[in-house]
Amino acid sequence: MANLIFKYSAMNGGKTLNIMQTIYSYEKNNFKVVLVKSEKDTKGFDNVIFRNDNKRKADIVLKENASLLTEEYYKIYYTAKIILVDEVELLNKKQVKELWMIAHLINIPIICYGLRSNFHGEIFSDGIAQLFASADFVEEIGSSSVCACGKKAIFNARKESGRFTDVGPTIVIDDGTKNEYEYVPLCSDCYLKYVKIKSEEAKDLTELVDKVK
Ligand SMILES: [Zn+2]
Repeated sequence: MANLIFKYSAMNGGKTLNIMQTIYSYEKNNFKVVLVKSEKDTKGFDNVIFRNDNKRKADIVLKENASLLTEEYYKIYYTAKIILVDEVELLNKKQVKELWMIAHLINIPIICYGLRSNFHGEIFSDGIAQLFASADFVEEIGSSSVCACGKKAIFNARKESGRFTDVGPTIVIDDGTKNEYEYVPLCSDCYLKYVKIKSEEAKDLTELVDKVK
């Protein structure tokens, strides 16, 4: 049977490039690709937007609590050679379990692309936790994102009105209309230094460092 694969990176880590290449190589050989995105990803409405304004219409725009196991969706994907899911962190646990069943019971390979952590530095969602639990392969995308200091970026930090923050709603899509938010890929050292150092979580450690000098 086919596999469920999770490919992750921090932001700007080459996920969309990887999707584009996969779509290109399948469609060049006349294989049907079904592209899925969540309706929570409001960038480009029902398109998946790639850099340089390249667009590819999503075949399924999944509603927040919708099931993939409906006749309407099944008719779209059952003949697919591969299913690609963009921004998989926006799917819920049940939807990820459905992807797993589609791969293993209907034999369609599925590659999910997304972020593993949110701007709080924690697992992005129940959907991502489920994907780590059930994916056959979990891979970091090779051309990974780089922090401004030159190390590999692990975290997706949020800037609000130009300042790093770790408070606020988890999902705010950077669709160009909410200019007060910006996301910055950071390594662990820089994430701790710029985002977490003043947080409640780091307080015990910073106090300890001050005390024992
Ligand atoms: Zn760094």
